[in-house]
Amino acid sequence: MRKGKIYVVSGPSGVGKGTIVRKLIEDYDNIALSVSATTRSPRTGEVDKVHYFFITKDEFTEIINKDGFIEYAEYCGNYYGTPKAAVYEKLEQGIDVILEIEVQGGIQVMEKFPEACGIFILPPSMAVLEKRLRGRQSEDEETIQKRLKTAKEELSKVSMYDCFVVNGPIEKAVEDVAEIILKNRE
Ligand code: 5GP
Repeated sequence: MRKGKIYVVSGPSGVGKGTIVRKLIEDYDNIALSVSATTRSPRTGEVDKVHYFFITKDEFTEIINKDGFIEYAEYCGNYYGTPKAAVYEKLEQGIDVILEIEVQGGIQVMEKFPEACGIFILPPSMAVLEKRLRGRQSEDEETIQKRLKTAKEELSKVSMYDCFVVNGPIEKAVEDVAEIILKNRE
């Protein structure tokens, strides 16, 4: 049986990668989204174990010590990591797995798994990115500034990914990512 493939989906905060991947797993079969662990606080509407495993710094360190993460990184003052077990289980079942993660973690995964496919999501422009980040209304100004600065650093890493998709109209971006995945299945 064919094993599943890892897709690393990265891009600056606010670019809309979350919306793209959620739509993708709704619309297409045999593709799952890995649920990460994080030490950041839940935003309004975020549900523990659905959007993230919201855990303490001590719990996060314990998982690192048990070698329980495929990768992990610090991002804007919080820790984020991909738990191993669920991902490996799905790959064994022939299900493709999307890791929606930032670039430091994305690069770790692509180094560890050379067969993984890295997809970078680009905003149509920096102005659009800032507008989306502000429109979310879930972060204070300091956090927005931090995320915008990090976004510029992240955008410089686009060439380390196998391909990129511009997130203009959402339906088109979903189709573009799906096309990459379906081509890899041929
Ligand atoms: P947010 O706080 O906006 O949910 O996520 C901040 C950043 O962390 C985003 O770029 C998101 O893709 C990334 N992220 C989410 N989960 C993980 C993970 O498990 N590992 C890494 N390295 N980054 C993650």
